[in-house]
Amino acid sequence: MANKENPSAVAENLVVTMDYKLFVDGELYDSSEEEGPIAFLQGHQNIIPGLEKELYGLEIGASKKVRVEPENGYGQPDPEAIMNLPLSELPEEIPVEVGVELELTDEEGELIGATITEVGEDFVLLDFNHPLAGKTLDFEVTIRGLRSASSEEMDHGHIHSH
Ligand code: ZN
Repeated sequence: MANKENPSAVAENLVVTMDYKLFVDGELYDSSEEEGPIAFLQGHQNIIPGLEKELYGLEIGASKKVRVEPENGYGQPDPEAIMNLPLSELPEEIPVEVGVELELTDEEGELIGATITEVGEDFVLLDFNHPLAGKTLDFEVTIRGLRSASSEEMDHGHIHSH
């Protein structure tokens, strides 16, 4: 019998607390080790869809390896999303080095992330694709906790920290 107050397995509309490790190309790319487990509202695409759909039914303490192909992760890189920026337009505080990530403001005033992928004599190439676009993501996750979402959290489609 499902107990609403003490849910035992991952289901739609539950707040899931989860440890994760993310491996990309066989190397550890990111994990919850330093920051602690992440918490999110299951079923509301707070996390990438390819991972979220594999979590249903997992009980507290359960671990699972999940492979997410780019289509269900960060998508394929868009070759059009690369821009040639004259060095003179690069903000001074940004180091001119391949691999540096920066944020720029677009015409609507939204912050967008970019990575310097090439440094030329008087220009840099900026790649606006997500750094994980085109990558197969290998997750190892462990469910640490489950609770019911508040009605406010359900309305908002995300969790509020307590
Ligand atoms: Zn909110």
